[in-house]
Order: sequence, then structure tokens, then C-alpha cells
Amino acid sequence: MTTGLVYLIGAGPGDPGLITVRGRDCLRRSEVVVYDYLANPRLLDEVPVDARRIYVGKTSGRHHLPQEQINALLVELARQGRIVARLKGGDPCVFGRGGEEACQLAAAGIPFEIVPGVTAAFGAALYAGIPLTHRDFTTSLGLFTGHEHPARQISSLDWAKLATGVGTLVFYMGMANLEQIAALLMAHGRHPDTPAAVIRWGTLPEQQTLVAPLREIAAQVRRSGLRPPAIIIVGEVVALRDQLRWFDRRPLFGRRILVTRSQEQAGALSAALEAAGARVLAVPTLEIVPPPDWTDLDGALDRLAGTDFLVLTSTNAVESLLARLAARNLDSRALAGIVVAAIGSKTAAALAGHGILADLQPARQDAEGMLEMLLEQGVAGGRILYPRSQLARPLLVRELIAAGAEVTAPVAYHCRCPAAAAEPLRQALDDGVDAVAFASSSALRHAWELLDAGRRKLLQGAVLASLGPQTSATARELGLAVSVEADEPTAEALVAALGAHFSALSSAARS
Ligand code: SAH
Repeated sequence: MTTGLVYLIGAGPGDPGLITVRGRDCLRRSEVVVYDYLANPRLLDEVPVDARRIYVGKTSGRHHLPQEQINALLVELARQGRIVARLKGGDPCVFGRGGEEACQLAAAGIPFEIVPGVTAAFGAALYAGIPLTHRDFTTSLGLFTGHEHPARQISSLDWAKLATGVGTLVFYMGMANLEQIAALLMAHGRHPDTPAAVIRWGTLPEQQTLVAPLREIAAQVRRSGLRPPAIIIVGEVVALRDQLRWFDRRPLFGRRILVTRSQEQAGALSAALEAAGARVLAVPTLEIVPPPDWTDLDGALDRLAGTDFLVLTSTNAVESLLARLAARNLDSRALAGIVVAAIGSKTAAALAGHGILADLQPARQDAEGMLEMLLEQGVAGGRILYPRSQLARPLLVRELIAAGAEVTAPVAYHCRCPAAAAEPLRQALDDGVDAVAFASSSALRHAWELLDAGRRKLLQGAVLASLGPQTSATARELGLAVSVEADEPTAEALVAALGAHFSALSSAARS
């Protein structure tokens, strides 16, 4: 059997976007991944689904698997011919024992490659708005362990040299010794007013930063209850945070937001929320599935010729229609000559993805807006095809018929409540959320059905954000107060509305 290969990969400090392109490529190629506590588990999504995942994480003091056994495991897996990704937080060889693992692999004759990572000091400092060097402040930088080999005393570092000889000092694993570190630096000549920062969970939505002069930092950290994992930065550059902080100034920074929406659609909303700094808990309470049978839609497609308007009120309608055309060996040309009305920009974009440009888009992106626009076009005597879900409101069909149109409204897809959503939904509410975002009436109704009385109370107490008037109306029907409503039904508008809500809250808290 041929020997495998071990990639020692730096996962970066937390934000999954901070792994290198090479690191991600290696993950995608691996058959087994051996990962640590500090490596963001979201990076495991990059690993092939059938790859084995082995957690060997350590939290302070509680070693999951001793280092010797990790070394032996890597050698063993490679000997079995596996491509192994050894994923470690930050950079694999900055206080990460990657050097030891590489030495063991080298000694055993196992081929390996090392992929550097963004180390915690670099990631956390910049996400806190602290450049580690700056010509006006410092010309040198040192990375230190604040928790040396247990057998040795912390004072074995040459404090006399480093206290004043190094401009910016960053301590890893130093929280337990913070008081001693600060005292030793001052005792060896570092000015007590030197600014210092402690950054916990740097680069993640949970990031917390505390800044204080060196003489006060230990006391303030104790009072705040800030705990590891954190790095300690000491140096004049820390003062730049006042001007440069950006990460924790984003409108939704640190807010835990529960997103309920179909799996297919949750991605865009989650990404927009995360870009604004939120911590997203995505629980799809809506599943889009094919209708139980195609008779309805097929019948309508048989009668496409002579259709005047095609009315599309969601991206699901677009995808279901085009998929069904394709299943019948047809493509967008089957729609030639039909005036296509799309309810909003997202639906129009889905159409554009199939090479179809929407002819009409209402000013108001809901059924009422669509109706108004079609009535202005004049639909009397016209034939309208309106593929929809089984849950669509009757409004459009009823009013278009009343206006003299001939309407075919086949069920092109079904909305369903996935039972698997119940547990994560309850868990999220029990853990506490700052807001719950509902993207549709069905996502909301489904969530409601999945909850017991106690959790329904929790939901009533949360900040509810809805994507539009229809969803808000459903919420009120269920006895829920909606505090945030998007101006238009897009992820961006919902994020803006949530941002405005929370910034009003925090300015009220400040005044
Ligand atoms: N190899 C890692 C360091 C591992 S040692 C790297 O290059 O970053 C573990 C220590 O790293 C923690 O005790 C803490 O001091 C620091 N650390 C790791 N991730 C961190 C994060 N996201 N924010 C703050 N400190 C972090």
C-alpha cells in the first residue's frame, strides 16, 4: 500500500474566510480531517462529505487526546494510505505544536506539507483595529507565550530585555498569568501608561475587546470576567484602535439572529446578516418540494400557446417552471412571445439566470403591487399563467378573474415544514437570540407549529423582523408583535432595518 500524505494546515484565527486558498484546496482534497478546538468547525464544510472527521481538540486543562497520541494517529492514518488534513487554529506552527507534529512525521518518513495560517495575533489585532506595527509608534513586534511549559516558571522569559526592547508585545495563552505579565513588564521598565488590549475570540462575531493602561489591565479584565481564549497586546499601537476599530462597529455586530427560511434561500440572507456582523443561527422551517403530481402544471404547459402573461411571484416559481420545462425537453424558447412579469429583483435575477429578461416588475414587491401593475396593463380578455405554491394567497387569481382575465394557476411546488427543524429551533430559542428573522408567512407559521407553549413565549419576547407586510400580518395573527419590517422584500433591506433598530436601541441605552 502506498503511504498517504499529511497536510498541516493553519485554519486561521476564527473567521472561516481567513483560511488561505491553499488551505481550503487541501481540505477539499482530504480523506480524513483531524481538527482542533480552535479551528472553526465551519471549515469542515469544505471537506468531502464522505471524509472521516476526528476531533482531537483541547480546551484549557482538559486534553481531549494527548499530543503523543495525535502524533501517532497522524502517522498511522498516513501509513494506511490516507490523505490527511491536520487542521489547526491560527498558524500551525505558532504556539500550535505543529513543529512537533512535523518532526514526528519526518522521523516516521511520512510525506507532509505545511500550509501557513493567519495567526491569532495578526487576525485578532486587525479585527480590533490595532495595527501591530506603525512607523510612528513601533518598529518591532514579538509574539510570546504567557503560559510556558508547565515545568518552567513564566519568569524564564528575559523580561528585562523584552519589556523595553520590543515595541509591540503579543502574549498567547496568557490570561491566567495576566497580572504577573503586566507586573513584570512594569518592573522591568515598561511605562505603566502603555496601552494594553485583551481580545477574546478575535475575528468571530463573539469578539470582545478590552483596552486599558498596562497598570490597570489585569484588574479590569478580572472585573469584566473576560476569559480565554484571548490574546494580550501591549504597546503604543493599541491606542490606534480608537480611530481604526471597524469590525465591532458594524451595525449588527455580535447580535445573535435566528433565520427561518428555506434552505435554498437562507444563504443570501445569512450572508447579508453576517456581513453586517451578526451571528446567524439558520434553521430552515420551510422546505420547497415538488408537488405530489404534475398534472396541474403539465396541463398548463400543454396550453402555453396563446398565453399573454406569465406571472412569477417567487424564485421558487421560476425554478420549478423551468425545471419542469426541461423535464419535458423544452427550454426558455417555449415562453417566447409571452409577457413575463416578475414580482421583484430576486425573481427577475432568477429568470435572468435562465436567459429570460422580465418585461414587467411592479413598484411594490408583493401580490397587491403585482395586481395593480397587471390591471394597469389591461388584462381583460387576456390569458394569464401564474405558477404558484399550494399556499399562495387567493388574491391574485380572484382579482384577475374579476378583471376579465382567463387565469391558469397550477401548483408548481409545495411548501412543507421539515420536522428536523424542531430541535435546532428550540435550542436556538433556549440559548437566547437577539432577533428572529422571518422571510415568509409559511416559514413563520411552520416555526410556530413546531414550538411548545414555553418556546412560543420566548418567541413573543424576541425582536421579530419580517420581510414584508404579509409576513407581518401573519405574525400579528399569531399574536406576535413585529418590531422590524423591511422596506422591500430583500435581504439587504431586512439587514438595514435590523441595523437601524439596534442602533436606535444602543443610542437610547447610551443617552
Ligand atoms: N496556533 C494558534 C495558537 C494556538 S495557542 C495561532 O497561531 O493562533 C492558543 C492561544 O491562541 C489561545 O490561548 C489564545 O491566546 C490564542 N488564540 C487563538 N485563537 C484566538 C482568537 N480567535 N482570539 C484570541 N486569541 C486566540
